[in-house]
Amino acid sequence: MRSPVGDYLQEVLDALADERSGAVADYIPDLANADPDVFGAAVTTVAGRTYAAGDDEVEFSIQSISKPFAYAAALLDRGKETVLAAVGVEPSGEAFNELSLETGSRRPKNPMINVGAIATHDLLVGPGASVADKVERAREFFSALAGRELGIDESVFASELATADRNLSIAHMLRNYGVLQDDPHEVVEGYTRQCSITVTVGDLAVMGATLANGGVQPRTGERLMPPEVARQTLTVMAAAGMYDGVGEWFATVGIPAKSGVAGGLLGALPGQCGIAVVSPRLDAHGNSVRGIKVFQRLSADMGMHLMDSVPYGSTVLRGVHTSGGETVFELQGVIQFSGGEAVLHGLESDTSGTAVVLDLSRVDRMNDVGRRMLLEGLRRMRLDGRAVALIDPDRVLPDPDLGDGTLPEIRG
Ligand code: GLU
Repeated sequence: MRSPVGDYLQEVLDALADERSGAVADYIPDLANADPDVFGAAVTTVAGRTYAAGDDEVEFSIQSISKPFAYAAALLDRGKETVLAAVGVEPSGEAFNELSLETGSRRPKNPMINVGAIATHDLLVGPGASVADKVERAREFFSALAGRELGIDESVFASELATADRNLSIAHMLRNYGVLQDDPHEVVEGYTRQCSITVTVGDLAVMGATLANGGVQPRTGERLMPPEVARQTLTVMAAAGMYDGVGEWFATVGIPAKSGVAGGLLGALPGQCGIAVVSPRLDAHGNSVRGIKVFQRLSADMGMHLMDSVPYGSTVLRGVHTSGGETVFELQGVIQFSGGEAVLHGLESDTSGTAVVLDLSRVDRMNDVGRRMLLEGLRRMRLDGRAVALIDPDRVLPDPDLGDGTLPEIRG
């Protein structure tokens, strides 16, 4: 059988073939030469499977889609405290190239608009690093995320740098307020190169899937960032990834995303997949017209809106049965707060007085909150005079200390 997922993606592109509104960006002269009809899409799941349709082999400059990944690299290189002291996380409601800073702190409002992205690029590697070091840091990191060596489009780079007056004025403003330490011309040169790194939709989809996968590149299995960095990056994408169109984007699509002026659009749905589209005609906000429509359709058809509620907790307790003087709670799936709460409620309701066994054989994983809730439940059951045991053949509950140095009976 051929999986219908790729066919579905192709169908979505076919349905939008006649959509020709919007215009190719021309403030970067080289981008005006882009083929406006290019249209490709790819989805990579957190299991590392990719489905692609249309012009998925076409390379284009990453442009602003570099911003979230450069932000992740800066967090890795400099730590959260230094990065947050330099750049905020608030939506700006402003155009991508606005010359603006937060009142009071004088930080750029977020790393997704140019002012914040230029400051973020300057944070790469460390104080005193050269332009070449910073660009190479970005290129190398993006390559690890994509799982292949990415190049730089020198023509797009030269064209943008030759007309970069706006970004230069942003960099001078940043230097004036002490946000930039380095020479504004050098920082803009490095930032512009970062924006000229070339990708395909397949590259972007796997880069997005890495964020969606908590920082582990799903194809190579390599951890490229800790979960907190992936979460922080997704957070700024949700808050500010679509420029001044972010509110409407989140209402209609509900996927953290970042767009670029070369027509790329990347979304990352936590725990599920990375999604990328390229189509160079842009709307007034600078976002790909067809890209937005593809995402609207995927979100609606595939139930991808992050704010849709999923009843995580109610599925965790698979069954409760009493046999041989014990009450066995059979758990399954993923245990986090709501699942932990459901188990605790089950324990609370059990007044049989028999031994209590939590059977975790069908549990895929649990987060630390789920783990601690289960252990606290067992601890309290034991205080009530009940014998407690765990069946955990795959060791999904590490370190089952009941909080006083003792362990439940472990079986399996
Ligand atoms: N290199 C572009 C700029 O700085 C990126 C803008 C974008 O993609 O939105 O203007």
